[in-house]
Amino acid sequence: MVQHVAIVGAGLAGLACGVALTDAGLRVTLIEREERLGGRARSWTDATSGDVIDLGPHVLHSEYRNMLGFLERLGTRDLIHWQPDNLITLVDGERVVRLRHSPLPPPLSLLPDLVRGSRLPLRDLASNNRVTWRALRFREDDVPELDQFGALDYLRALGVSQPMIEWFWAFASLSVMNVPLERCSAAALLRVHSQLIGHRGLHFGFPAVGLAELFAPQAARVIDRVVLRAEVVAIEKGVVLADGTHIAADHVVSTLPPQHEIEPSPYVSVYLWFDRKLTRERFWALLGAEKRLNTDFYDLSNIRRGWGERPSIVASNIIYSHRAHRMSNEDIVAATQREIAQFAPQAAYARVTHAVINRIPMVIPCPVPGSESARPAPSATLAGDWTNTALPSSMESAVRSGLMAAEHVLRLAGRPRELALPMRPSDGLAGLVQKLPRAVPGRAWRTPPTARPRARP
Ligand SMILES: Cc1cc2nc3c(=O)[nH]c(=O)nc-3n(C[C@H](O)[C@H](O)[C@H](O)COP(=O)(O)OP(=O)(O)OC[C@H]3O[C@@H](n4cnc5c(N)ncnc54)[C@H](O)[C@@H]3O)c2cc1C
Repeated sequence: MVQHVAIVGAGLAGLACGVALTDAGLRVTLIEREERLGGRARSWTDATSGDVIDLGPHVLHSEYRNMLGFLERLGTRDLIHWQPDNLITLVDGERVVRLRHSPLPPPLSLLPDLVRGSRLPLRDLASNNRVTWRALRFREDDVPELDQFGALDYLRALGVSQPMIEWFWAFASLSVMNVPLERCSAAALLRVHSQLIGHRGLHFGFPAVGLAELFAPQAARVIDRVVLRAEVVAIEKGVVLADGTHIAADHVVSTLPPQHEIEPSPYVSVYLWFDRKLTRERFWALLGAEKRLNTDFYDLSNIRRGWGERPSIVASNIIYSHRAHRMSNEDIVAATQREIAQFAPQAAYARVTHAVINRIPMVIPCPVPGSESARPAPSATLAGDWTNTALPSSMESAVRSGLMAAEHVLRLAGRPRELALPMRPSDGLAGLVQKLPRAVPGRAWRTPPTARPRARP
C-alpha cells in the first residue's frame, strides 16, 4: 500500500521533503498556515509597483549543494544570477574594497585582497593565524566543547587583535551569523569560517526572479496535495487542523520553527524604488554596520532578469534589528537612503518613488553559546533550517533537513534512499590541513585559558 505522509509547513524544508517523498512514490499532503508557499523565503507581488519582492533579499553560494540540487530537480537552477568574479564589495567609510579570489589555493585565495583592502598592519592580519588554523581543523565533533564559548572571548583568547576584530570579525558575525560577535557561539562562527575559507572559488548568487518563484509553484505541482490557510493544531495519527478537520497519515513531518525557547534574530528588510540608476553593482555591504542600520545591499535592477534598464531598486537588510524597532518607516527610509549614498553617491540626489519595509520577528534562531548543542537532529518527524544539519540556519540547511527527514521516512517505509548531501570536503591547502590526523581524536581544541564558558541560554 502507498504510504501517506503529512508535512506541516511549506517553507523550503517542507517543500524539499515533499518533493523527495513524492519522487520516491509516497503520497504527500503538505499543510501550510499562510495563504502562500515559501515560509521565510516567500515572495509576493507588491501592489504599488507590480514587482515581485521577497520577505527580504537572500543570497546563496556555490557550495549550497542541496539547495542547488533541489532547484535542478525543479528545472530552475539557471535562474540564479551568479557573481563568480567578485566575492563581495565592502564599503569601509570612504573606501571601497573588492574581495576577489586570487589563484592561490584555499584558504589563501582572498589573502592578497585582504592585505590590500584592510590596510591593517601585518601583525593584525597575522593575529588571525591561530583562529584560521583552528577553523581549518574544525570537525562537527568539536561543537559541544566550542559551543560553550562566546566567539568574542574565543577570538581574544586565540590572540586576534582588536583592530582585526573590529574590521573583520564584527562584520562577519553580524552579516553571516545574524548576531553581534559578543552574542555568537564560537562553534557556530568557526564552522562557518571553515566552510567559507575552505572551498576553491566560492562565490555568491542571487535569485534572478522572486525568491519563491524559484521553487514554490514548481514544487507544489509535483506534490499530490497542498492545503493552504490551514493551521495544524495537533499531531495525532495524522494532523488536526484549527477547524477540527483530521487528515490521517502514516507519517507526519513537522517543519515548524523551534517550539522550545530560543532567542530570535529579527530583521527589518527595506526595498526602495529610485527614480534613476544609481550603480551597476549587484551586491555590496557596509563595514561597521553594527553601528549603522543596514548591512547588505542588493540593486535588484542589476540582478533580476530583464530589469537591466530600469532605475535602481535597492533591497537591504537591517540585521539583528533591535536598534531599528522604535524607528518610523519614514526614518528607516531616510537613513537607508543615506547609507546607500555612502556607496552610490547619486542616491543622495535621487528621489525614492516607493518604499516597502518588512519587519520580521525571526529570521533565524540566534546561534548564541549553547544553541548549537541544543539543535535536535532531523528525523522522520522533524525538519527545518534550525535542526542539526551541520550548517548554519539557512536555505541550504532547510533543504538539507527536509531531505534528511525524507530519508528517515523512506527507511521506515522500507524504501531506503540517500538524498541529502554533506558539505564538500575542503579544497587545496585547506583540504590537506583538514585531513591531518588529530593528536587526541575528538579533542582538537585545547581550550584557550582565557576563554570562559558561557552559560547556556
Ligand atoms: C529576511 C530574510 C533574509 C534571509 N537571508 C538568507 C540568506 O541570504 N541566505 C540563506 O541561506 N538564508 C537566508 N534566510 C533564512 C532562510 O530564509 C530560512 O533559513 C529558510 O527559508 C527556512 O526554511 P524552513 O522551511 O526551515 O522554515 P520556514 O520557512 O519558517 O517554514 C515553516 C513554515 O511553517 C508554516 N507554519 C508555521 N506554523 C504552522 C502551523 N501551525 N500549521 C501549518 N503551517 C505552519 C509557516 O507559515 C512556514 O511557511 C533569510 C531569511 C529571512 C526572513
